[in-house]
Order: sequence, then structure tokens, then C-alpha cells
Amino acid sequence: MKILVLNSGSSSIKYQLFDTDKKDVLARGMVDKIGIAGSSLVNHRNDGDSVKLVGEIVDHQVGIEFVLGLLVSAKHGSLRTLNQLDAVGHRVVHGGEKFNGPVLITDNVIKEVEACADLAPLHNPPNLKGIYAMQDILPDVPQVAIFDTAFHQSMPDYAYMYAIPYTLYKKYGLRRYGFHGTSHFYVSKRACEILNSEIEGHKIITCHLGNGASIAAIEHGKSVDTSMGLTPVEGMIMGTRSGDLDLGVLTYIIDKEGIGVQAANTLINKHSGILGISGVSSDMREVIRAAEEGNQRAQLALNMYHYRIIKYIGSYIAAMDGVDTIVFTGGIGENSVITRREVCKNFNYIGLELDQQKNENLRGEGIISTNKSKVQVMVIPTNEEAVIAEETMKVVEANKVYVMNQKLKQL
Ligand code: ADP
Repeated sequence: MKILVLNSGSSSIKYQLFDTDKKDVLARGMVDKIGIAGSSLVNHRNDGDSVKLVGEIVDHQVGIEFVLGLLVSAKHGSLRTLNQLDAVGHRVVHGGEKFNGPVLITDNVIKEVEACADLAPLHNPPNLKGIYAMQDILPDVPQVAIFDTAFHQSMPDYAYMYAIPYTLYKKYGLRRYGFHGTSHFYVSKRACEILNSEIEGHKIITCHLGNGASIAAIEHGKSVDTSMGLTPVEGMIMGTRSGDLDLGVLTYIIDKEGIGVQAANTLINKHSGILGISGVSSDMREVIRAAEEGNQRAQLALNMYHYRIIKYIGSYIAAMDGVDTIVFTGGIGENSVITRREVCKNFNYIGLELDQQKNENLRGEGIISTNKSKVQVMVIPTNEEAVIAEETMKVVEANKVYVMNQKLKQL
């Protein structure tokens, strides 16, 4: 099957074209600065051909038209015609309590996703724009939604509830949902494949450490807890997000600084975290560099960042009554030797032993704990797009009759 995976953000669309039979990515690229001056489309084909087009891309619909045009272009394309496209898989950030797995997109599904937009006002509306545009341009190509929140729907109620009046949960759906589900699912499954271990009975803690960051506790292949909550601001200290914060701090700032809810939201989402503490950057590489040059605030940011991860891993070991495997992923998890070393050194008490050489020399995926370590520590580059393509294929195959009927309707 040829499957186009779309990740539609507020001003960008990232995409990958998969050939699931050959397990190959035929092309990948990005539409950037949608609706802003200097919009562009960059496409990389798997044979090394790359092209950048600069033009006016006023909205998502135009952006997707450009992408599809490029994918069938004689010079830079990967398909002869759009008829070769079997399905489109969309990353959708928030599926609320409605979706605990991928679904074929129907009018009803769209209504449900629209209803979840309240819970993710920055993410679901652009995700929906990608869906509307695709439906408009290629109405007979089946589309599938894969939700960031779905994997965490297996959390027990005592893990996902907030201790606020229960009526507010019922009224607004205020609870913890968790994000990065596709990534936590992928790396936990991949860890078992590499270790040649059954997922049943396996206790895994997955650390997705990118610009956004979350940790998940996974038992028998199911998420039992995760650090992000109703929104992606809870939990870890991130590039620009505060992570866990005494709510009293927020009300104090609102009061003393005389700012409104919107500005307070911007403060904890855009001006906090590694950037806010260090004053250097939200980019971990720059903060590590500054700390090495003696910048005290950069060092403080690193110390706080690592300490928060250690506390969460410790709490998830307690929550699962043990851990077999810890996985690092995301730009920082995959690349930061320092972060993995600083985090792992606090788990000697459970017999975790990091192999310092492997930690420094590993490229790509692999095990970085010693052979006698009681806990396996692994690095696994995440691949959310591959999961979206695979799940899209499964959903389309499971709904063959429905898909055929829809195609007949378009004739
Ligand atoms: P996103 O969440 O936007 O997908 P990524 O997963 O790509 O982001 O992670 C970006 C983060 O990874 C940045 O903070 C970047 O500095 C960090 N990073 C990338 N390479 C390294 C490295 N070699 N050492 C430390 N941090 C790194």
C-alpha cells in the first residue's frame, strides 16, 4: 500500500509517503510558514533528490495541493498518479475519552474530533484542517486518524483523575490524558522485539525527551501512567514548558504581575522550562554547551531537568512494583549521553548498571546497560510516522467493505 502520513500543525504540514509492501519511505517533506510570508515546500525523495519551492501558501488546503502535486511531478515525484495513493493517515493530538485506538475518518469521527478541540485548542484545529483539505481534494481516498492520547486510555482512573470536584470531570472531561502515545507505543514494542521478549509481563518505562517531553509506565504493553495530563504542560521540565508546578505559583504571578489567563498560559508554555531557567536557549545542545563553559543558570537548568526525570522514573518503579527496561527516545533521549548518564546513576539501588562506553558510543538503537545489569537500559529512535502508516493500513484493511462503498458513492 502507498500511504501518505500527515502531521498538520498551525503553520506547517509534515508528511511522509510510505510504501508499506516494501517497508520503505518513498518521500518526506514539509510545508512551512503556511499563511505567513516566505512559505515553502521542501521534499526529499528516497533516491537523494531534494527540492525546495518557495511561494504563497495561504492555507492548509493550498499546502496539501502543493504536496500532492509534487508527489506526482515528473521530475521530483514518487508516484505516477494520485490513484496510486491507497490511504492517508493523520496524526491527531487529542482524542479525548472517545478514542482508544486509530479510526477510519467518517463524518461522525470528524464531529467527535471537533468536540475534542476544546481540550487541545492549539493542536486539534490544525489537525482538522489537514483532514478537511484531504477530504476535499481526494474524497475517495480512505483517511485514518491516529491519536496521541489513545495509547494512554488504558490508564486506571486513580492515575488519570485530578483531585478536583468530580462534577468538573463529568462536566468538562477534566482529567489526565497524556500525549506522545504513538511514540511510547512504538519504542516499548520495539524494545521487546530487540530483547526478544514477550510484551506480556514486561514492565517498561519509556522516556520521550524532545522539545516536549513525557515519561510513561507501561505494563503488559499498556500505558498505566504518564507524565503529561489534560494538556502537554504537565510533568517533565521541557524546552519552554514548566512541567509540574504548584498552582499557587500561577495564581501568585497572575495577581502580582497583573496578567490575564492567556498571558499566564503563554508564560508556562513558551517562556519557562529549560529556556526560562537558563536564559540561554530551549535547545538542549546550547544549554549543555553553556553549562560546560561555566554558565551557572544553564547548569541549574540541567540539574533540575535530570532531577525531574529521576523522580518520575522512581515513582513509576513504585507504581509498577518494579521495572525491567528503561527506554530513552526523542532528540535528547536519543542523543544526550549526559542526560542518560545523570539519570541512570540514581538507580544503582535496583541493580541498574549503565555501560559508560556503550552510552557514549551507541549510534541508533541498542542496549546501553551492562550484561549483568538487572534493568535493561535502551536507546530507541522513535518513529511515529511508521506507526501511523502501519495503523492506517490495518484500519483500511479492516474496513474494506465500507471503503469500497464510499468509493462507489463517488462514481
Ligand atoms: P521535537 O519534540 O520538536 O520533535 P526533538 O525530538 O527533535 O524535538 O528534540 C529536540 C531536542 O533534542 C533539542 O533540545 C535538541 O537540542 C536536542 N538534541 C539533539 N541532539 C542533541 C545532542 N547531541 N545532545 C543533546 N541534545 C540534543
